[in-house]
Amino acid sequence: GDLVTVLFHLGEMATATESLDEATFELLGAELGYRIQIVSPEDEDKELLEGFDIDLEQELEDETDEDLVYRSPVVTVMGHVDHGKTRLLDAIRGANVIEGEAGGITQHIGAYQVWQEHEGEDRAITFIDTPGHEAFTAMRARGAQVTDIAILVVAADDGIMPQTIEALNHAQAANVPIVVAVNKVDKEGANPAKVRQQLTEYGLVTEEYGGDTMFVDVSALARTGIEELLEAVLLTADAGLDLRANPNKEARGVAIEARLDKGRGAVATVLIQSGTLRVGDAIVAGTAYGRVRAMVDDRGELVHEAGPSMPVQVQGLSSVPRAGDSFIVTEEDRTARQIAEKREAVERNAQLAKARKRLSLEDFKLALEQGKVETLNLIIKGDVSGAVEALEESLMKIEIDDTVDLRIIHRGVGGVTESDVNLATVDSAVIIGFNVRPDPKARERAAREGVDIRFYNVIYAAIEDVENSLKGMLKPEF
Ligand code: GDP
Repeated sequence: GDLVTVLFHLGEMATATESLDEATFELLGAELGYRIQIVSPEDEDKELLEGFDIDLEQELEDETDEDLVYRSPVVTVMGHVDHGKTRLLDAIRGANVIEGEAGGITQHIGAYQVWQEHEGEDRAITFIDTPGHEAFTAMRARGAQVTDIAILVVAADDGIMPQTIEALNHAQAANVPIVVAVNKVDKEGANPAKVRQQLTEYGLVTEEYGGDTMFVDVSALARTGIEELLEAVLLTADAGLDLRANPNKEARGVAIEARLDKGRGAVATVLIQSGTLRVGDAIVAGTAYGRVRAMVDDRGELVHEAGPSMPVQVQGLSSVPRAGDSFIVTEEDRTARQIAEKREAVERNAQLAKARKRLSLEDFKLALEQGKVETLNLIIKGDVSGAVEALEESLMKIEIDDTVDLRIIHRGVGGVTESDVNLATVDSAVIIGFNVRPDPKARERAAREGVDIRFYNVIYAAIEDVENSLKGMLKPEF
């Protein structure tokens, strides 16, 4: 209420539930002596964490060379369907199970590590066990960059296919170097040279042709070429990636797979990106939180701690996080819980906003019949004030029965702006634009919020549409 009064004195007529544009906020802030900071949703989580004195970017910046040690590369296998991704992941893992070791039992937790001798050293490589670029992209959409190197599987008897291109586009967009596994070389009609030649067109040029992409012929079925492929991954990592992380801090990473287990509750596989995760740590992953009760590695063995690039399955979370949710360890249990709760509140609000029913002229009558609305709210924008007034006047003259009401909640001269759309969002209004267009931001926002904006350059057409809508006669527009 106080803010509305201040706004009133500033010449801004606003109600308590109205959305204001950035300029108005600035004005309000200046009047009251506050500095206004507009926060985008992307920045929201960063801000949220900063409220708990956690600044992940700053943390990385502050790390010195002494803090950092080598970590193993994290690899995703991508490629066209049936080109052998799953087989290859099995072959890689199978080749690495040491005979007699715990009966050679492996456990599927969503990622695994293998070891490869490279230049006299035993080096680990972490594989994400869900093949395909869908998971890769879903995680990226959450802001999680998990993969260091992509193995692009191409069947030598089939050559490049649509999903081959899709996968390489995704990897390239994410700036992830690619190693090509030319698979099924055991097959009759396999033509590995053709695969090399085809991929040059997409910027993947083999070293034999003077490029810098490694191609390795493999057979996931016969399990040949696997060691060479792992070598190629390590060479590619050493050639261009700075794979270092600080193991001596609270763990930070990403949840890559999670589910509800009948006996154990929520179990989540997390990939540690920096720091060390220990049993007993307070952890928050997305909106799930808890204390690490137990950790299991990819061999099904209990472990007490896990360092960078190591995948472990964690028990003890309050709920199931989503793949791609980032996780952090906090000093206190309470902090983890509070972060989770705040994120939950943010998500709930976002969902409510989405679920809020927006109105279009077409479904006004339906909403009316269902008792959901009784008033059609309109916002009128026009190129000249005369037109806006004429339109408003004519609209108010439409004869309607007394079960419905027509209200012009806002009118103005000029294009349809984001603030018009905001207003339409809050009051479930339809926007009528007369001889004007929306600006790109307004258009985008309207699409996102489901706001109906209609454009006319003949007053009569606008009146007819509104009239038909009020009488439930408007045909849906396609
Ligand atoms: P994905 O869809 O890419 O995961 O492909 P899969 O791993 O399921 O393999 C598809 C089919 O190709 C299966 O029938 C495999 O047995 C077969 N396959 C995979 N790798 C090879 C290979 O190296 N040689 C031969 N001959 N067949 C293979």
